[in-house]
Amino acid sequence: MNKLLERLRLLLLKLQILLLKAKVTIPNLDNPKAIVVHYDGAGNSFDSVNNWHKQKWGFKSSLGFFCGYHYFIEFDGRVIQAREDNEEGAHCVDPRRPGFWNKNSIGICLQGDNSKFTPAQEGSLLWLLDNRKTEYSIDNSAIYTHKDIKTTDCPGTKIDTYIKGYRKRA
Ligand SMILES: [Zn+2]
Repeated sequence: MNKLLERLRLLLLKLQILLLKAKVTIPNLDNPKAIVVHYDGAGNSFDSVNNWHKQKWGFKSSLGFFCGYHYFIEFDGRVIQAREDNEEGAHCVDPRRPGFWNKNSIGICLQGDNSKFTPAQEGSLLWLLDNRKTEYSIDNSAIYTHKDIKTTDCPGTKIDTYIKGYRKRA
C-alpha cells in the first residue's frame, strides 16, 4: 500500500513538472475561499495587462489567457474572465502564507489609477462580488483588497473605500 502511495506521489510530481514545462495552469478541485480586489495602477486595458503577464510569466489559463487575475473590469464596465474561479491565479503574494492567496482566492482587477473608478465599474464590481460570494458561500469578511494583505497602494483609495463599505453590508 505504501509503495502504491509512493508511486502515486511520484506520478503527481512528474505531472506537475510537465505542466510547469508546458506553462499551463489547470483548475484545482477546491472552491475559492476568498476574493482579493486590485487595480492595475496605470489605467491599462485588459489586453495590455494580458500581454504584460504573457511576457512576465507566460502561463496560459484553461480559458486561453495569460492575465494573472481571474476577472478584469475595464472603465466601461466590461468584465473579462481570464481564469476559471478555481484555477490558480498570479495576483497576490504574502510571504507569511506562501501560495495561499493565489491558490484559494479569486483575483479581481479593475482598470484604473487613483483618480478613476467609474460608475460602470462600480456596477460591475458589485454584481461580480454579489454573484461570486453567493456561488461559493464566501463571507464578507473574506473579501479583501490587496493592501489588506500586504503593504501596497493597490487598489488605490477609491476602490479600497468602496470595498470597506461593501464588507459592512448585510
Ligand atoms: Zn494588487
